[in-house]
Amino acid sequence: MGLILRIDVDKPYGNNNLFKKIISKLREDFYFPVINKFGYLKQVQNFAILLHNHSVPAIFYFRNCTAPSQSLIQWLETLGHSIGFHAENTKSFETFETELKDFKSKTGLKKLHSFTKHESGVLKLGKNHHPPYEEEKYKGWAMKTETPFYFGNGEMSTFIVPEDKSFYPEMFWIEAGYRDLETMSIEKLISEAKNEDYPLLIHPENYYARQQTKFDFDKLLRLSKQVNVNWFVPPMHY
Ligand SMILES: [Zn+2]
Repeated sequence: MGLILRIDVDKPYGNNNLFKKIISKLREDFYFPVINKFGYLKQVQNFAILLHNHSVPAIFYFRNCTAPSQSLIQWLETLGHSIGFHAENTKSFETFETELKDFKSKTGLKKLHSFTKHESGVLKLGKNHHPPYEEEKYKGWAMKTETPFYFGNGEMSTFIVPEDKSFYPEMFWIEAGYRDLETMSIEKLISEAKNEDYPLLIHPENYYARQQTKFDFDKLLRLSKQVNVNWFVPPMHY
């Protein structure tokens, strides 16, 4: 029993100051190159070190605009993490497959742990983003591309999880705004995770940009160690 950490990497340069917000948005929507000295994926590297210090493995999901270099992938894998794809243009199977192929060729990865969907709902975020969230469609695409779809984008509002452990429709979002901070508190999560598995979602850039996210995640790391709650990555299906 324990905690499964899903990490969606949305921001190429993070978002903890105005300059980073602007260059991230430029790269997301138009064009802006990878410039390491401007801190490309620096938040991912810092977050991976934090996790390593607490012996927490995770699955990192990257968009094409946040694709990691091969050396970053190797380093993350050495630390016990898995790599997945964060899909945006899910208008049709063809647009999804094109993005997925692009991601594989950029990263040199032949197999990915799984994929997740970027955002859910009505807002169009970025030029490649197809806003609707269509879970059943993605399950079919998972079979066709042999890239598992483990996690839905639902917001967990109770601690009841599905019997079937091959798909989690709802996440425990670390960020405020996606859960009730009182009924779905970190303390309650830790107490429930002694008897059940819970999938969590965090965006590493928010850990560095939002006080509440950092406060709650640090608390989670601390309490999970205190009461011996395990963190794990589910094995690949295909
Ligand atoms: Zn996202």
